[in-house]
Amino acid sequence: MRYIVVDLEATCWANVRDRDRMEIIEIGAVELLSASEPYCREFAQFVRPVAEPTLSDFCQQLTTIRQTQIDRAKSFVDVFPAFLNWIGSDPFALCSWGAYDQSQFRVDCERHQLPWPESFDTHINLKKEFAKVYQIKPKGMKEVMAHVGLQLIGTHHRGIDDARNISQLANLVLPVLESTNHNYLSTESS
Ligand code: AMP
Ligand code: MG
Repeated sequence: MRYIVVDLEATCWANVRDRDRMEIIEIGAVELLSASEPYCREFAQFVRPVAEPTLSDFCQQLTTIRQTQIDRAKSFVDVFPAFLNWIGSDPFALCSWGAYDQSQFRVDCERHQLPWPESFDTHINLKKEFAKVYQIKPKGMKEVMAHVGLQLIGTHHRGIDDARNISQLANLVLPVLESTNHNYLSTESS
């Protein structure tokens, strides 16, 4: 099975968690050609939000993404098709740490009236699966990396670095899921 590990960054504000207000500002993703192989290709693009194009100070501090990087970026209507093109037509399972990324894709597809790719219904919530396999509570990627003795690379809360880091955890858990015939086709919402 081929896996696309994705991590999104989005507009955000201190003490606000409103998925419908948030908009994607970075798509970071890596491709795993098998459950246990390290990633072979990566996709990293900033996205210019349309509803609230000015990043809050909180958001710039959290993500280290600067307003100038966002001002130069293309909007979701351009970047999302480029992302789908990068993924290509071979079957894959979309993976992310938690359910957030898949649902934010859904919000932004609706906002921009882009068709929802059916292939994105096959989603593996690595946070949930990791917790089950390792018999721990679902936790942030950073904590789980420390738990298993993996070194965090790059800048946490940058989509591409998060995706690279999550792929290291994916290499631990996906082989276990494959060996236990995990049902990849089940759609997840939690
Ligand atoms: P992450 O993948 O953990 O970097 O988070 C993805 C997105 O969730 C970020 O770009 C923010 O939009 C939002 N987010 C993450 N942590 C927080 C937080 N502590 N407060 C508000 N929004 C957050
Ligand atoms: Mg992230």
